[in-house]
Amino acid sequence: MVTPESDEEKGKYKKEEGDEDETAEGEKVKECPECGSKSLVRDYGKAELFCADCGLVIAENIVDLGPEWRAFDFEQASRRARVGAPMTYRIHDKGLSTLVTWGLQGQGQYKLKKWQQRTHIANTTERSFIFALSEIDRMASALRLPMNIREAASMLYRRAMKKRLIRGRSIEGITTAILYIACRQYGVPRTLEEVREISRVGQKEISRAYRFLLRELDLKVSPASPVDFVPRFCSLLDLSGEISSKAIEIIKRATEKELTNGRGPIGIAAAAIYIAAILSGEHRTQKEVSDVTGVTEVTIRNRYKELSEQLDIDVLL
Ligand SMILES: [Zn+2]
Repeated sequence: MVTPESDEEKGKYKKEEGDEDETAEGEKVKECPECGSKSLVRDYGKAELFCADCGLVIAENIVDLGPEWRAFDFEQASRRARVGAPMTYRIHDKGLSTLVTWGLQGQGQYKLKKWQQRTHIANTTERSFIFALSEIDRMASALRLPMNIREAASMLYRRAMKKRLIRGRSIEGITTAILYIACRQYGVPRTLEEVREISRVGQKEISRAYRFLLRELDLKVSPASPVDFVPRFCSLLDLSGEISSKAIEIIKRATEKELTNGRGPIGIAAAAIYIAAILSGEHRTQKEVSDVTGVTEVTIRNRYKELSEQLDIDVLL
């Protein structure tokens, strides 16, 4: 079963005076720990603090809902229903009982029981591992990830399993977060939105597993560079390598002028591509760029205005 909220996570968040939010560790949050963006949104309806640029749910239960927890649980449940019920792995015990019907008596019975328990645990671990690998494989195929990233993800999963981090958590959430991490480590980042689309769980569950794994496995994942997203986004938008180079050039200039500070890398990449396409006479609409990158049209508009103004680029539509 999926554990919606572990006890440690539940109820720790209290509303604070002032306009900063707290995470489970009680740190003040001013920017997204994932992408460094300062565009954070507090959604009191969902009791979440999330990043408008990369979509990471940074903190949950940001409002002390007190007796209205039920309502929150209900809301959460209905949202989960909307994203599709996760296909959580369940243990099927078929076959085992027929194996142990012979000679259940005395010493033999005890030994057999022990053996049965041990086999049962081994089978359960084995099966959930097999399920995890098949999930990694399924999602990696959908995301067209190369073999080395699948292997890295499997290794990471094995590490998490050895540290007993999987217990009581959804394998779907953990495997999605692991794949997301592996992509970053190999410099071919996928957006949270992209992994959510092919995952069996929602943004919140992925974010939670991601934060949990970074903490428990002590992983340092450096922020993605906008440049890392450009070639793939360009090819998805059917834009040439020339435009891709031009977009990277714009990003480099923007970085030199420190225009990228406090801005999510995906939004910067989206805006640079938008500009580069126009300059090359291959106009793509903000809607088209938004569909591919997952960045809202508003963000694209804001970033593109900032970049074109600050870098003195004449963008004639
Ligand atoms: Zn972010």
